[in-house]
Order: sequence, then structure tokens, then C-alpha cells
Amino acid sequence: MLVGIHGDNRTFWPERAFRHLTLAQPDLVKMMTNNDLSMFQRVKAILPSAQIITRIFWPGKPPSHQNFVEAVAPSLEAVLNLGYDTFELLNEPNTPWEGFGPEGAEEFDGWALRVISLLRQRFTGIRLLWPGLAVSPLFNDVTWWRTCWRSIAACDDLSGHGYWQPDWAMEDRQWGLRFLVGKEMYPDKELWVTEAGCTDPSVSKTRRAQLYPKYALRLRELGVKGLAFWLVEGSEEWEAKENAFFDDEMALALKQIPRQPAVAVGNRTIQIGNLEGVIDRRHDLLTRGSYPERGLADIRYLVVHHSGVDKDSSVEAIASYHVDALGWPGIGYHFVVHWDGTIEYVGDILQARYNVASRNHEVVGVCLVGDFSQRWPSLEQRAAARSLLANLQFGLGWFVPIVGHREIALPGYGTACPGDTFAEWKPELTGTNGE
Ligand SMILES: [Zn+2]
Repeated sequence: MLVGIHGDNRTFWPERAFRHLTLAQPDLVKMMTNNDLSMFQRVKAILPSAQIITRIFWPGKPPSHQNFVEAVAPSLEAVLNLGYDTFELLNEPNTPWEGFGPEGAEEFDGWALRVISLLRQRFTGIRLLWPGLAVSPLFNDVTWWRTCWRSIAACDDLSGHGYWQPDWAMEDRQWGLRFLVGKEMYPDKELWVTEAGCTDPSVSKTRRAQLYPKYALRLRELGVKGLAFWLVEGSEEWEAKENAFFDDEMALALKQIPRQPAVAVGNRTIQIGNLEGVIDRRHDLLTRGSYPERGLADIRYLVVHHSGVDKDSSVEAIASYHVDALGWPGIGYHFVVHWDGTIEYVGDILQARYNVASRNHEVVGVCLVGDFSQRWPSLEQRAAARSLLANLQFGLGWFVPIVGHREIALPGYGTACPGDTFAEWKPELTGTNGE
């Protein structure tokens, strides 16, 4: 999923908008045809590989389809010439102030069909998004989605908006996830959330910086193609009213959102969530055969093990024991954490490896080498495990509980692993709030 920012609504942007783009490094920027072309050029210079979605802007109700296309064609052409081919047709047309109003679905559908046809004749290869609707049910959004099936079919993809106020509404289908109602009517269309954010002025920017990454991960899990958070820059009045324009902290929080599923792989060092410096040993340990594959969505538990031998064993020694002595296809764990805090990624998490009998399909196995029946793992080892587990949870994009092997062993497979002291240091691994 692409994570991005909705640019400023004004023709010329304040300088801080460019600073935020530089800090946030978004891979998507939502712009508008009424932004001066020099704004597009500057965004392109700062973020040459970012995708741009441009809203075709009209103030109030648009004129007839011919007059509309004549009027907007020059700005579309200029944007297309910069290499950006994707446009959203208007914005929230189900509100009275954007033109058609809650009762105007039928009229919009006919108008939009003609506009789409003219635009496709004039600009071959143009990509068109059917507009995001105002999320409030007051504006008949469900009727609009149902009525406008012809113009939706004529567009390439759907866009949606996600706004909420109190925290609980962020993932509520009436508010932050309202666009799902439309998406479910048109499952073949890809969905782009072209505006989203919290609009409660009493919610601080620090709080928003915590919430937005969670919202992004949720949308990624739902299969959304791209997400642009609203800057809420556009007028001094909005900024004051909604306390919502971006600040540096929010921009940096966006930069930290993992864009890809957790197993983004570098050559020797991989990045899991925000964790760097993990040593990739997946391809150079002893194997004999292969483990079954699985999807990220199969993962239900992050499981903590110990090796049961009170020394800082090498991963080679563990792999040799699992393959030669136990006859397994390869080392049974996914990660091994050493006494000095070194983490080795030893088995791909998209493989169901052997570490919890009868539950291998749903676990990620993290082994802290050593025997913790009497003593605790070292401070470095605990801190590294904590960081690894937190980043796995973050990277996996949903809540996956951290458990000790002994806690989820099925009857008949009882074990003391990861040692009798586990209950004492478990809170350090999971965080004091139990997350
Ligand atoms: Zn175990």
C-alpha cells in the first residue's frame, strides 16, 4: 500500500508543506488541478518516484459535460505532461457545497458518464478514479454508490474518504472505514483512500501521530491500494478550527509506517517494521528438504522459546541438531536472539517451521538461546527480543499476541519452555500495557 499526504488546497502552498513532504517521504501525494503547476514541479523534484493523484477541481456545481471538459482540459494536459496520469473526478459530490447534493446521484451518474467518455477520447491512457463521497450517512452515500453503478463501471478505480473524531470511530464502519461499504458493492475495483484523518480539534497532533500509523496498517490489511492523509491546510480558518495541519512530528510518524509486508528483504540485513540490523541467515544454514509455505494472515502467535542449553549456542549448532538429530527440514525457529542482543533471522516467516507441535502453521518462533529454568536472559537479550517482537507486531499490521511456548502447548505436548522464570520477565517482552 502506498502511504501519502493530501496536499494543500490552495493555489500556492506555504513553505512548511514542502518541509513536511521532505520529512515524511510519502509514496503518494494527492493534489488538485487548482494547485499552480509549479507546485507539481516542486513535488516532483522533492519526490521523484512518488505517485500523484490529482483531483479535478470545480468550485461548486459543475457546468454541462462539454463545458466542464473544455474548462479543465488545459490543467489536465499540463499534469499529464509531467507524467502523472491519474485523476479523481470531483470530490464528495454528494454534498450540497460540492454540487449535486444528497439527492443528486442520478444526475451525477449521467453527467459523469459523459465526462468520462469525453476525457478518454481526448486523453488516451488517462486513469480515472470515481470520487470519494462525504462519509456521513446524512449525505446518502449508500444510495449514491448503488445508483452510480454506470459511472463507477466506467472509471478505473474507486476512491474513498475516511474521517473520524473520537478514537473509537477510527475503525468504525460508520466513520473511519465507511468507504468499505462502497468497496463491498464493487469488489472488482481497487480502492484509493484519497483523504483521511481525525477532525476532532481536541485531539493533539502528538495523538494523531500515534493514531495515523495504526490506521494505515489497518487499511493495508484491508487491501487498500493507497492512502493520503489530509493535511487540512487550505485556509487559516480550517487550520485553527481543526487543529489538524501537519507538523514535523506527524510527518516523521508517517515516514515510519512500513509500506510493505513485514518480510521486506535486503541482501544481508533485513528490516522488520523499524528494526534494523537483523542478520539474515535464512539461506545459509543446513537444510534437508523444505518447510510448508503459508501466508502472513495465517500467523496467530509470536512464540518465545529458549534453547534449553545454558550456553550462547550458534545457529549452526541449533540447525545441525534440528536437521541431523531430529530429522527436520531445517532449523525449527524463525529468529534466534543471542546473549549480546544479536538477532539472527534463520527461517522465513512465510514458512510453517517446527517449534510448537500441531500449531506450526500459526506461529512465529523466536528462540532466546540459553536455559531460563533458573535465571533470566541477559538484559541485552531481553531488550533485543522486546524490540524484535514489537516490530513484528507492528510489521505484521495487526495484533498478534506474544506468548511463551508453554502457554500455547496443546495437551500431550506440555513443556517448560522457555523456562520456569519466564513469567517474571514476560512483561518486559510484551510491554507493561500487555500489548
Ligand atoms: Zn519451545
